[in-house]
Amino acid sequence: RKTNIHEMLDEVTDRFSFQLRQKNIRAMIVVDRDLKSAWLDRDQIDQVLDNLISNAIKYTLEGGAIEFSAHKQDAGTIAISVKDTGIGIPKKDLSRIFDRFYRVDKARSRNMGGTGLGLSIAREIVKAHGGTISLKSELNEGTTVTFTLPVLQEEGETA
Ligand code: ATP
Ligand code: MG
Repeated sequence: RKTNIHEMLDEVTDRFSFQLRQKNIRAMIVVDRDLKSAWLDRDQIDQVLDNLISNAIKYTLEGGAIEFSAHKQDAGTIAISVKDTGIGIPKKDLSRIFDRFYRVDKARSRNMGGTGLGLSIAREIVKAHGGTISLKSELNEGTTVTFTLPVLQEEGETA
C-alpha cells in the first residue's frame, strides 16, 4: 500500500519504544526531502524493519544510538539503512551473517536469545521484492544494514 516512509519508520521505533527506553537508546530518523512515499508491501517490509531494529537494540549497549535513514538511490530505487553504535561484528563472520541459524560467537549471543534467523528472513523478503541487502560493521564501533527496494515512480510526484 502507499506508505509515507517517515511515518513507517516512526511506527517501527514506536513498536520498540519500550526496549529502547529500557536500554536508554536514542532513535533517530532521517528521511531525504525528495522521498515522501512509496508503494510497499507493509507487512513484509515491517518484518524486515522489526528484525533489523531488534538486532540493533540487542547488540547495542546502554546509552547507544540507532539511526534510521532513507533516501532515493535512483529514480526507481529507495535505500533504507539502520545504523547502530553497538558491539559490531568481527570481520571473519561478515560473510556468513545472512546464513540461516548463523550467530556470531555463541558465547556473546547465548544470553541474548534468538535463533539466528532474523537476518536470513530479512534477506529472503528483500530479495523477493527485487531489492538487495548489505551489512557494514566495525567491531566495537557499530553496524549499518542497508536494503534497497524498487519503487514505482508516480506521474507528477516526487515520491
Ligand atoms: P534472531 O534474529 O533469530 O532472534 P539473531 O539476532 O541471533 O537471532 P540474526 O538476526 O540473523 O540472528 O543475526 C545473526 C547474528 O549477527 C547475531 O547472532 C549477531 O551476532 C549478529 N548481528 C546481527 N545484527 C547485529 C548488529 N546490529 N550488531 C552486532 N551484531 C549483529
Ligand atoms: Mg536478530
